[in-house]
Amino acid sequence: MEARLDLDGNPIRPITICMIGAGGFIGSHLCEKLMTETPHTVLAVDVYNDKIKHLMEQPAGGQPHPWVGRIQFHRLNIKNDSRLEGLIKMSDLTINLAAICTPADYNTRPLDTIYSNFIDALPVVRYCSENDKRLIHFSTCEVYGKTIGSFLPKDHPLRKEPEFYVLKEDLSPCILGPIEKQRWSYACAKQLTERLIYAEGAENGLEFTIVRPFNWIGPRMDFIPGVDGPSEGVPRVLACFSNNLLRREPLKLVDGGQSLRTFVYIKDAIEAVLLMIENPDRANGHIFNVGNPNNEVTVKQLAEIMTEVYSKVSGEPPLEVPTIDISSEEFYGEGYDDSDRRIPDMTIINRQLGWNPKTSLHDLLYSTLTYQRKTYAEAIKRMMAKPTAT
Ligand code: NAD
Ligand code: UDP
Repeated sequence: MEARLDLDGNPIRPITICMIGAGGFIGSHLCEKLMTETPHTVLAVDVYNDKIKHLMEQPAGGQPHPWVGRIQFHRLNIKNDSRLEGLIKMSDLTINLAAICTPADYNTRPLDTIYSNFIDALPVVRYCSENDKRLIHFSTCEVYGKTIGSFLPKDHPLRKEPEFYVLKEDLSPCILGPIEKQRWSYACAKQLTERLIYAEGAENGLEFTIVRPFNWIGPRMDFIPGVDGPSEGVPRVLACFSNNLLRREPLKLVDGGQSLRTFVYIKDAIEAVLLMIENPDRANGHIFNVGNPNNEVTVKQLAEIMTEVYSKVSGEPPLEVPTIDISSEEFYGEGYDDSDRRIPDMTIINRQLGWNPKTSLHDLLYSTLTYQRKTYAEAIKRMMAKPTAT
C-alpha cells in the first residue's frame, strides 16, 4: 500500500480502532472501508456480526483477504461487559456507534431508548477520558428537533429564510417536543450525551469528535420484516419502502408524507468519517453535520422516486395505487411526533475537512434498490408462496 497522507501532507500512521456497534449499518460500511483502503486495525464490538461476516470469513476456495488479522470481532454487550475497558485501552481511537436508533422504538420502548443512547454511552466516555483515548461519538441530526420556522404560520415569509430552517452545529437551538411525545426520548438522550462529551473535553481535556448523521442510507440498512428481522418490526423509511416494493404493496405515507428529509449515500458519508479518523487535529473538539443538503425531498416524493426507480430495476410496472396515507398514531402508536425538515449547514465540515457529498438521490436509490432486489427478492417470493396458518 502506498504511503497515505493526511490533509496537511503528513504520512498517516496505522492505528487500532475500537469500533462499538461495528456490526450495524454504518459500522459495516466503515469496517469495509478501513479494511480495503487503509492499514488500520479494527476491534469490532457488537452483539451481532452478520453484516461484517464477509470481511472475516475466508473467501471459498480463494486467497485469504489481504486484511486478514486486521479485524477482530468481539461479541459483547456494552451494557454489562467488563472487557470493554480493556479493548478501549488497547486502541488509539474509540468510535461509538452503538444505539437503539429506529424511530418506531422511541415512543414504544422509551426506557430502552434512553438507556441505550445515554446510560450505556457513559462508560465509553469515561474510559476514553480516564485513559486519554480519542473518541468519535455518533449522535444524530435529530438533536436539532424541529426547525424554528415550523412554529410560524404556514405561509409566513420568514419560513423561506435559511436562518429559520438550516441547521448549524454552533448556532441552531435544539427544539424538542413535550415529554408526553416520547418520540423525543432518543434526541434528548443523544443531546445529553453530546453535552457530557463536550464537558469532558472542556474540563478534562477529552479529545472528541461528535458526528450528527442526516439520514444516511444505502445497502445493509436495517432489516426486511419477516426476512432478516421480526415480521412485526418497523425499520427506518428506506427499509419500510423497500419491503413494500419487494412485496408489491403500497408504500405507507405517515400523516401524508409531508415531512422533509435530506438523504445522503452511505458511501459518501463514510468518506467524511475516514477524514475525521485520519485528521485528528482538524476533527478534535468539533461537532460535524454529515448530510447532503442537495438531496431534499418530502417523504411522499421519496416514495414516488423509489417506486419509479424500483420499476426500472425490477422490470415490473408500478402498482396502480402506489401509496396510501396512514396516521402516525396507527403506524407508530401513541407519542409519535416528527422532525419537519432537516437541512445540514456544511460550513464547518467544509472548512475543517473539505468534505462534500457527491451522489444524487436518484443514483443512490438506483444502486441501493438494485442491492435490495438482489438480496431479498427470492426470499420474499418464497415466503409469500407459503400457505399462511389459519
Ligand atoms: P444500526 O442499528 O444499524 O447499528 C447500531 C449497532 O449497535 C447494531 O449493530 C447493534 O447491534 C449495536 N449495539 C446496540 N446496542 C449495543 C450494545 N449494548 N452492545 C453492543 N452493541 C450494541 O444503526 P446505524 O444506522 O448504523 O447507526 C449507528 C449510529 O449512528 C447510532 O448511534 C445512530 O444513533 C447514529 N445515527 C445514524 C443515522 C443514520 O442515518 N443511519 C442517523 C442518525 C444517527
Ligand atoms: N415514514 C413513512 N412511511 C414509512 C416509514 C417512515 O412515511 O413506512 C416517514 C416517517 O414518519 C418520517 C420519515 O419517513 O417522517 C423518515 O423516517 P425514518 O424512520 O427513516 O427516520 P427519521 O428520519 O424520522 O429519523
